[in-house]
Amino acid sequence: MSRLESTINRLIAQKVLLDHVATLIGAREGPVFELGLGNGRTFDHLRQIFPQRDIFAFDRSIRAHAGCIPDAEHMVVGDMRDTLRLVHPRVPGKPVLIHADMGAGDPTADLATREWLSPLVAAWAADDGYVLSDRPLELPGFAELKRPAEAPVSPHILYQKA
Ligand code: SAM
Repeated sequence: MSRLESTINRLIAQKVLLDHVATLIGAREGPVFELGLGNGRTFDHLRQIFPQRDIFAFDRSIRAHAGCIPDAEHMVVGDMRDTLRLVHPRVPGKPVLIHADMGAGDPTADLATREWLSPLVAAWAADDGYVLSDRPLELPGFAELKRPAEAPVSPHILYQKA
């Protein structure tokens, strides 16, 4: 598969999986975390499919498209190793969905991220809440859910906290 094909698959899979998890969540209450605002592509999709929810976006700096930047209350700037430990006073309850979109494209960097990110994600996720990650995380006690058939091959994994 060419890099062009795998990029197309990854983006389609991301959208299919986000839409799928939105139907699984239904009317359950709770905010959404976007870990990795980047240029704001998936944040923009999340606010379309979760129009009534608080969506908190995290990144070390703001480099998103001008139209895809959350308001100051919902944008958490800084290294997530710090901000995920300290942001509790700003967040109304535990997130029903954590979308981790932080793959670096380098296997060693991804392993290093998995080591510090996994316990923070595990602690933040609501009971029965969902985690969609573009890289495997170490989430003991979480179930790995079946992907919808229409999601092309991609590294994404959908977890649910038991
Ligand atoms: N979801 C984005 C989109 O659809 O446009 C793409 C996100 S991009 C793949 C990953 C982002 O994660 C980068 O913007 C990077 O700055 C951020 N990131 C990676 N590690 C981080 C860390 N430790 N703390 C804060 N941000 C981090």
